[in-house]
Amino acid sequence: MSTAASSGIAGAARLEIDLGAIARNWRRLAQRAAPARCGAPVKADAYGLGAAQVVPALARAGCRDFFFAHPGEALAVRGLAPDVHLYALHGPTAAVDEMAAAGVIPALNTLEQVAVWRDAAKRAGRRLQAALHVDTGMNRLGLPPADFELLAREPDRLDGIDLVLVFSHLACADIPNHPLNAAQLAAFRRLRALFPGVPAALANSSGIFLGPEYCFDLVRPGAALYGINPLSDAANPMEPVVRLIAEVIQVRRVDAPDTVGYGAEHAVTGPSRIATVAVGYADGYPRSLGNGRGQALVDGERVPVVGRVSMDLITLDVSNLAEHRVQPGTEAILLGPGIDPDLIGTAAGTIGYEILTRLGPRYRRVYITDDSPAAPTR
Ligand SMILES: *Cc1c(COP(=O)(O)O)cnc(C)c1O
Repeated sequence: MSTAASSGIAGAARLEIDLGAIARNWRRLAQRAAPARCGAPVKADAYGLGAAQVVPALARAGCRDFFFAHPGEALAVRGLAPDVHLYALHGPTAAVDEMAAAGVIPALNTLEQVAVWRDAAKRAGRRLQAALHVDTGMNRLGLPPADFELLAREPDRLDGIDLVLVFSHLACADIPNHPLNAAQLAAFRRLRALFPGVPAALANSSGIFLGPEYCFDLVRPGAALYGINPLSDAANPMEPVVRLIAEVIQVRRVDAPDTVGYGAEHAVTGPSRIATVAVGYADGYPRSLGNGRGQALVDGERVPVVGRVSMDLITLDVSNLAEHRVQPGTEAILLGPGIDPDLIGTAAGTIGYEILTRLGPRYRRVYITDDSPAAPTR
């Protein structure tokens, strides 16, 4: 086990990101999806965990296909891993010639984007790779089926473009019996057949668990890599990836009748001890977790967030813990096993994805790499 610290503000909470766990989650998903290839969405800075660290770690595990949202996100990590495909899901929306030069593969979501990329190939004087994104029912981004069919009928529109992937995206994969899943699968089967021989992809994290027929040639699990439960109705099969640990900076005795925090919203009803921890909504800790909705682990005990979440502070009611167990310097676990992003997301009225992608810039990030020697090859 080795750790490497990066960035952050002295005194701020420590965010531990287990790159070994991300790699093991990827292997688990890859095994489940096989013989389909397993890619990795790393948009939004790898769901807030750091694309510059996650991309090389997954490339070492064997991942070859990385999905970003914006072109600039893909360009920012070029050169960090050899022989990988970097896809920009939003398409050639900016820095088009730079994308072409760097070999970033755009998703083409509209006929206009197809024309932009064909012109880029002409300017570059060579063929360029691209993925075609067909919208099968999300009605958000991607070619409407009629435009996708038009491209199959008029292949000149794709002059100079080598298609390396045809894909679509599921709207309800986390709801296994939602009828839209089967409808999107049927639509995608019909549409991908218009480009025979081009690899196809449909499933996100939850989509992999809908069954092998959803996996096609390549899968794109994001959230599950980062420890979020891809199953809405069963225990989480993924390994936890993050731990957010903040030190208690003060412990206050508060006797009734009195109140804690802004707005005097938390009324103390008996002799209490309040532990103050230096994390707040400026760190992405949701303000909606105030007044008993958030929780933390202190010396193994679950304790509630009381009062409002401030910009830089939260207050925990630690009255149930003996005094010697909570002192200035005691660690409070705000995210980790037993207090995972899904739980905190639900408590905050959102989802684990949003909890991860809002993890703040002040945290001192520590990357844990499992550097146990590779099994000998025979
Ligand atoms: C974000 C995204 C994914 C990953 O979805 P998860 O639910 O995080 O697994 C897959 N495909 C596309 C097109 C995406 O935008």
